[in-house]
Amino acid sequence: MADAAPRKGRMPGFRLFRIAGIQIQIDFSWFIIFFLLLWSLSAGYFPHAFPRESEWVYWGAGLAATILFFVSVLIHELAHSLVAQHHGLSIPSITLFVFGGVSQLSEEAKDPASELKIAIAGPLSSIALAGIFYGLKLLASGSPHRIIGAVLGYLALINGALAVFNLIPGFPLDGGRVLRAYYWKKKGSFSKATRLASDIGKAVAVLLIIFGGLEVLAGGLISGLWLVFIGIFLRSVAQSGYQDVILRGLLNSTRVSDIMVLDVIKVPPGLSLDRLARDYFLHYGYKGFPVFDDETPIGLVSLADIRGIPEGVLPARTVREVMTPLNDQIVISPDIPLSQALPRMRQDGRLLVMAGGRFLGLITKTGLMRFLEVKRVLGENGQ
Ligand code: ZN
Repeated sequence: MADAAPRKGRMPGFRLFRIAGIQIQIDFSWFIIFFLLLWSLSAGYFPHAFPRESEWVYWGAGLAATILFFVSVLIHELAHSLVAQHHGLSIPSITLFVFGGVSQLSEEAKDPASELKIAIAGPLSSIALAGIFYGLKLLASGSPHRIIGAVLGYLALINGALAVFNLIPGFPLDGGRVLRAYYWKKKGSFSKATRLASDIGKAVAVLLIIFGGLEVLAGGLISGLWLVFIGIFLRSVAQSGYQDVILRGLLNSTRVSDIMVLDVIKVPPGLSLDRLARDYFLHYGYKGFPVFDDETPIGLVSLADIRGIPEGVLPARTVREVMTPLNDQIVISPDIPLSQALPRMRQDGRLLVMAGGRFLGLITKTGLMRFLEVKRVLGENGQ
């Protein structure tokens, strides 16, 4: 069972309760694994391992083991989440779903050391749970109800398996995150470390798919398909996780001043709108222009500002009447990272870059997208 967590992205689901401010919820897909596990324990594992008990005992034991297993998964996720919270990250929710649990992380860890601690907390909690359940099993060994020992033994085993599986060093598994933290620390590059960890993660996923296929051929239909589905899931998370990280890394490491256009086409405020349309919008093909009174920026005029104005009226009206006057909404500082600039770009996607009342340049959404595209292509060339 994978937990592939913590990771970014929201999952819908039933809301259960909150722990330490974290919303615990259940995805609909979780019911599949819940009933599958309940059934395989109650109708398969327990009757096989402990014959001559009643159906009630098997299903009671199955239900207890299934519920405690999911409590264990939840504790594993909580361990990730609480350590993440301790390192200043916010965790809006934890979702249990068909492949286990996932903690929703608002952002990536800030440094390798906190990444390592957040990643390792999950497997450590699973190992601790395995130890606790094993200890309880030993305590229960004198009990006449051998099924209690069986449930505890199963929980010790499954928590141990959860820890081992999640320590496989392929992103997005916890072990992949540990590996990423190690390389991040060693090479100093978060994106290179993510690339390595997600490449290994994809290889692990392919191996799971192959093993699953072989298992199906060998007659283990459900367990084989299970491995195949987990493999497919892990592969897609490894892929998209890497792309997310690259994009976010770029947006965080690039500043407004790095992509701003210095040589901008300025529009005078007294210009009539028909000339604005003809000599600027149609001529240059841009969707917006900064408005300058001599050398002083006074606003931004965009195509949206003249939309809906009847053609006959355009010559009688000026840019000044329709432009967005200079205000905090359309101005940005040069040293702000693109990750903060992007959400601020409105539909016409333009911001004036200014510092200390001085105009420096212009950033556009189109320019930003082009920048990301170029970086992506260069990145594929291994630069
Ligand atoms: Zn985990």
